[in-house]
Amino acid sequence: MSGMSGFRTVRGMRDFLPEEASLLRFVEDRARKVADLYGYKEIITPIVEPYDLLSAKAGEEVKSRMFIFKDLGGRDVALRPEFTASVARLVATTLKNEPKPLRLFCVGSAYRYDEPQKGRYREFWQSNYELMGSNRPEADAEILMLTNTLLQQNGLRRVAFKIGHIGVLKGILEHEKVEERIQNAVMQLMDKKQYDDAIGLLKNSGVSENCTSIIQELVKLRGANVLEIVKKIERLVKNYEKSIEAAKNLREILRLISGSECRIDVTLDAGFARGLEYYTGIIFEMYVTDLDIALGGGGRYDRLIELFGGEPTPAIGVAHGLDRIMLAMKMQQTRPQTQRRKTVMVVAVGDDVADETSRIAQILRESGISVELEIMRRKIGKALEVADKKKMDYAIIVGKKELDEGAVVIRDLVRREQSVVNIGKIVERITLVEGRDLP
Ligand code: AMP
Repeated sequence: MSGMSGFRTVRGMRDFLPEEASLLRFVEDRARKVADLYGYKEIITPIVEPYDLLSAKAGEEVKSRMFIFKDLGGRDVALRPEFTASVARLVATTLKNEPKPLRLFCVGSAYRYDEPQKGRYREFWQSNYELMGSNRPEADAEILMLTNTLLQQNGLRRVAFKIGHIGVLKGILEHEKVEERIQNAVMQLMDKKQYDDAIGLLKNSGVSENCTSIIQELVKLRGANVLEIVKKIERLVKNYEKSIEAAKNLREILRLISGSECRIDVTLDAGFARGLEYYTGIIFEMYVTDLDIALGGGGRYDRLIELFGGEPTPAIGVAHGLDRIMLAMKMQQTRPQTQRRKTVMVVAVGDDVADETSRIAQILRESGISVELEIMRRKIGKALEVADKKKMDYAIIVGKKELDEGAVVIRDLVRREQSVVNIGKIVERITLVEGRDLP
């Protein structure tokens, strides 16, 4: 066979080499710890789901970017572009009798046919938290605080939340009897900040002049003086009952998070909309000042579970983009503080000690020490050079002479000193050296 070299990853898909892979797993692990801290139980759902489930309320934008195919049984399926539909499916079916609230966590890859660029890939990772069964503002505040904790625990600084409330706009559009199809199209345009097009579409659909001018004013309202902005929103929408309720809800959530121990930096944006169609209440995204793409986003979706055939179940959720959190960590140079295992290279001197060498390696592994066996038959000098280059902590040199005394040579690759140690004392020697941490 010829011509089979030069394979590359599919466009938008990446390999994670050891350093990247370990950072991803670190962030994933932090996400799991935060889930635990807030009482969210992990579930694992399939990457492949029925197309109908994933497309039901995803919104045109996400729908048009799904990886869709027929499986060999002729079923229309797709790779999940997000997690919420899967979790909502579960809560509408298998978990429908579970006591509320339900706090569920998942983490894994998602797929969207987005245009690849910095922080945007076709395979990306999310940690996802869903809080189902409560329509109280405390639930919304919890999701925001949990998100803040997660970003903090990854060492990120200058985190800012952008918050809006879809209920304010929807309240107006519903009152004006705008068809749902048009409402969704308006939201999609607003998500892309094409406010003029959104207003144009509304004018064409026959809403009153007064209504479009209110929306025009509304989308201009944004800033960090959040309570003042809520007041302005309330004044603007005073004739729309549902919108007033939405503004009140927004005020309560904002009050809860500002009164909490978490110091969350919030900007309110009344014209903020998000691509997913299922939102009904507060919506939000997180940013760090160094990076102009969202690290994650979420919002309240009170009708999705009902739409999937479950009991009416108010819910709020958030998805964090782990790839982007990793990018932000790199930009802010926050190195994760992990306790590294001690690493040891075990080198046999000569063929006749191979058995004993591999036995020693096994003893060390059983004590939680990471061992690489020298298997290239390198000479000691060369083997030590390799171990050094790999920044390993120790080399254990197994030679006939010391073995006959029941001992090996341990070389401390950091301090550059070595000594002969009894086999029974190796683990102790490596884990309890003065001035070094326990593994
Ligand atoms: P969404 O479900 O659109 O609200 O996305 C939630 C988060 O997932 C975004 O804020 C991003 O951090 C991340 N995300 C979405 N799409 C991509 C992508 N194509 N590549 C990397 N991260 C993404």
